[in-house]
Amino acid sequence: MTIAAAGVSTAGMGGAAAAQASSNHSAVNYQMVAESSDINQGTSPQILAITENQPMANLQEQLTKAIESNAQRIKAENDERIAAAAEAAKHISEKPGGVVLPTVGTLTSPFGMRWGVLHPGIDLANSIGTPIYSVMDGTVIDAGPASGFGQWIRVQHDDGSISVYGHIETIDVTVGQRVVAGQKIAGMGNRGFSTGPHLHFEIHPGGQAAVDPVAWFQEHGIFISS
Ligand SMILES: [Zn+2]
Repeated sequence: MTIAAAGVSTAGMGGAAAAQASSNHSAVNYQMVAESSDINQGTSPQILAITENQPMANLQEQLTKAIESNAQRIKAENDERIAAAAEAAKHISEKPGGVVLPTVGTLTSPFGMRWGVLHPGIDLANSIGTPIYSVMDGTVIDAGPASGFGQWIRVQHDDGSISVYGHIETIDVTVGQRVVAGQKIAGMGNRGFSTGPHLHFEIHPGGQAAVDPVAWFQEHGIFISS
């Protein structure tokens, strides 16, 4: 709330200054028209140039401040969303049974046929940098570049299942590392074949073919709604 109020106040000041600059500029234009015959005769054009540049410089400064203020507000809102996602995930990871959700986000694409090919996982969309968690205890077997995913992590769990985390922006783990359910392993990204920041998640029970993660989570008492 404090951030939003400060943003409005700055924008208001910028608006007032811009209006003032604009009216000054009109006066300069008027003067230019009035004295245009003097310019044609080659007298003192540099005086006009100075008076014209002054309000323009001011306006540019105000615009720069307004843009910076807006960028700060967007960053603050983004940080707030990521913090909220991390907070929500904490509660999720308190769920008994050793299985947690891999992130907090909106289900934007289900498991199944898509564009004539199998989409072997689910897409969960949120902001770049949203924490991504290992869904169960296990060992990291891949962490790095992967075709289509830009970057991925694969974790082999103790029951032989393999989970896949694609399009990630940042990687917090290395191959061979032990991880526990709910441990942050990556940050959400938009790399590879992706049209917006999201996690592509797959689950391969027993290391075999991928199954619908929504159904798999449901078997473990976790319900994902779109
Ligand atoms: Zn996907």
